[in-house]
Amino acid sequence: MSKWVKSSLLILVFASFAGCTPEVLTDNSLTAVRNDLGAADGRRLCVSTTGMIGNLVETVGGEDVHSVTLMGAGVDPHLFKPTRDDVVLVRQANALFYNGLHLEGRMGAVFNHLPPSQLKLVIGEWVWEQHGRSDGDSLHAEDPHIWMDVSLWAEAPLEIARTLAILQPENKTVLLGRGEKLRKQLLALDEYGQKLIKTIPENQRVLITSHDAFQYFGKRYNIEVRGVQGMSTESEAGLATISELVNMIVDREIPTIFVESSVSSNTMRALVEGCAARGKQIQLGGPLYADALGPSGTYEGTYIGMMDHNFRVITAGLGGTVTDKRFAP
Ligand SMILES: [Zn+2]
Repeated sequence: MSKWVKSSLLILVFASFAGCTPEVLTDNSLTAVRNDLGAADGRRLCVSTTGMIGNLVETVGGEDVHSVTLMGAGVDPHLFKPTRDDVVLVRQANALFYNGLHLEGRMGAVFNHLPPSQLKLVIGEWVWEQHGRSDGDSLHAEDPHIWMDVSLWAEAPLEIARTLAILQPENKTVLLGRGEKLRKQLLALDEYGQKLIKTIPENQRVLITSHDAFQYFGKRYNIEVRGVQGMSTESEAGLATISELVNMIVDREIPTIFVESSVSSNTMRALVEGCAARGKQIQLGGPLYADALGPSGTYEGTYIGMMDHNFRVITAGLGGTVTDKRFAP
């Protein structure tokens, strides 16, 4: 459902309950919200925060769920502030999926006041607890960008399937089958990504991006990673960081640095200018999709397409070998 349709429906819902806050909606009005959202046909309303999560929920749930994602293309989850409509939607969901690990930093108050009986899966945190935590201190709870390691994110579809099966026990076998199929596709994507990144000449295997979203990526795909801003886009790049990175780019002859789709490219331009002042021309590559999918309806608007795009753009920008063929699971 488009954000516009969603907003219009919710405005209608609000108009009919003028004066009510979400906290005092009655059972009847909750049903009305679900009906207006198109869930009246028995499909369950599943709300996800980011596209990286929502796309998996959609794929695993198929036509059996009514999936809505709050953050569209280009939306920065660190800075995302839910509207009143978003809050209503989150609270009315039959199942809520979010990343956690402080990614959705401005939704804390909403998450802290969810109805106690609501079904929810904090998928980033779950993956980290199950699979990231054991991997030592370089994968740590302060880094929410766990989807950047496709081998770790590949564990998410089955847990999503198990959660959806709580809503629809009669569909459990089908849901688990879809989860397993997607898990295998993601493991193949992971292998494909490793092969591509390996083709980058070793001295140029350095990924410089707007913010520190690629630490998991770097560890998994064996590429050094430097973010100009910190782990969250709320912090700004210091002059010392910029001049240190300019030195690194010049010394190691790094051909390309990358902008991200959901972060302002101003600091990256400062790097390009800094290098130019030292007589070194570098490319501003990308945009990479770090914290949001590409436009809805495109290949990059899926999790697989997003990561395929990133693997290919990074490899090509840093002098590796990329064929014309997309990843085919
Ligand atoms: Zn981020």
